[in-house]
Amino acid sequence: MPTSAHRRKLRILFASSEAVPFAKTGGLGDVAGSLPRALKHAGAKAAVILPKYGTIPQEYRDRMKHVADFYVPLAWRNVYCGIEKLELQGLDFYFVDNEAYFKRDGLYGYFDDGERFAFFSKAICEAIVKVPELACDVLHCNDWQTALCPVFLRELYRGAPQCNNVKTVMTVHNIKFQGQYGDKMLSDILGLADIPAARDQLYCDKDSINFMKGGLCYADALTTVSPSYAYELQMPFYGEGLDPIFRRRSNILTGILNGIDTSIWNPKTDGMITANYSADDLANKAECKRALQEELGLRQDPTRPLVVMIGRLTNQKGLGLVRYAMDGIMRRGVQVAILGTGDADQEEAFRYFDQKYGDMMCARIAFDNALSHRMYAGGDILLMPSEFEPCGLSQMIAMRYGTLPLVRETGGLRDSVVPYNKFTGEGTGFRFSNMNADEMADTLLGACELFWTNQELWTKLMLQAMATDFSWRRAANDYMDIYHGLHPEVIRYNKRRDR
Ligand code: ADP
Repeated sequence: MPTSAHRRKLRILFASSEAVPFAKTGGLGDVAGSLPRALKHAGAKAAVILPKYGTIPQEYRDRMKHVADFYVPLAWRNVYCGIEKLELQGLDFYFVDNEAYFKRDGLYGYFDDGERFAFFSKAICEAIVKVPELACDVLHCNDWQTALCPVFLRELYRGAPQCNNVKTVMTVHNIKFQGQYGDKMLSDILGLADIPAARDQLYCDKDSINFMKGGLCYADALTTVSPSYAYELQMPFYGEGLDPIFRRRSNILTGILNGIDTSIWNPKTDGMITANYSADDLANKAECKRALQEELGLRQDPTRPLVVMIGRLTNQKGLGLVRYAMDGIMRRGVQVAILGTGDADQEEAFRYFDQKYGDMMCARIAFDNALSHRMYAGGDILLMPSEFEPCGLSQMIAMRYGTLPLVRETGGLRDSVVPYNKFTGEGTGFRFSNMNADEMADTLLGACELFWTNQELWTKLMLQAMATDFSWRRAANDYMDIYHGLHPEVIRYNKRRDR
């Protein structure tokens, strides 16, 4: 029986290449900005570490305090690294400073991204050794940019007392991006060429190495952002070449559905929507729809189901199905509004439909956060026929606003949307299973039929969707279970509170 001396908070260092509100290009930024705070509420001592990018707003840069500086060995180089700190709403953020690597106009897309994030990962390991306040029990790494941390820790830092009981968790947010580079990096930057185990596990073909593969092989626990994606990653169709590793390590792979920031996404208090409403009083949602139709130049007609799509216009999002089915959907008198930016051919296609269908179809090719709020509030249906979707936030946001999602059964879409069951009346949205435009259109027109013929039932589904709990509390408790599984010698400080 462990003594009470072992009851303490686990120290979690959350390593991420982006975190809201400092830097964001996708879902990872949202997760890193929200989950660590939820971990604190769940009884951990959590902090976040990310690069000090040149794009971080000045107001935050002004408030950062210098904590430490040292040199990071990168093969034959010794590279300067500063550690700065900023406390924001009770959470400590640490920034890795090296202007040559990070003082640029964007986050990614540079010729030396491999070197930049190898440096970032190594700097995190050095910081754990050299900066006492960064001592941790669990280093939680995210995507390829921090995937080398588990490799470095095991191969190069095992001897350091600050590191020998640090466990690593590796979370996959999107397996499409893996950090694959020429193998010259092994000797020239990583300094791992003489370590056979590291070499073997980093190689992905005869002359390339893969950062993500290294992280997946070396981490003590693997997670991804939904249970279904955890299962899919083990299949060749979704695994992007790494499915054998997910199969081999499936016993330590867990899928945990992301949450959303329910204080931002709340139709009752949202200052960006036309009129506030809640599950207790839905009346104003109709006004949100009318105002959205007006704003987008659509016919102001409450009897038309308004289908909205919000997201990146890329192949991942299943836009081919929408393009194929568009004429058929339009013929049935349904309105469609799309907000997004992305691949040029996709943007062009939706501009064409916008022209063709006048006041029944609108394509806004833009990134517009305020408009996205008004679309979540004003729509009747959110369409998300993704080819793959690790988690997906839009469908969860839509449900908060009583806009019923219609999704393909994949990844987090499958895990978050309960399909309408005409026998029991259960459901928070609609689902179809195959990447098939006719199947999608049938499901969509079936949903519209329900909208036209049974408003009472429609309202019931809206209320069921709005009542679903998408807060981070549930996810944070699941991560705590994993951390504590890696540290059985530490008794949990707070019991799970959601059971
Ligand atoms: P992904 O991470 O694959 O881009 P998600 O559904 O997980 O997709 O998250 C997308 C987030 O970005 C959502 O919050 C969505 O509202 C927002 N978003 C995407 N495109 C736009 C846009 N053009 N304008 C405003 N918000 C957008």
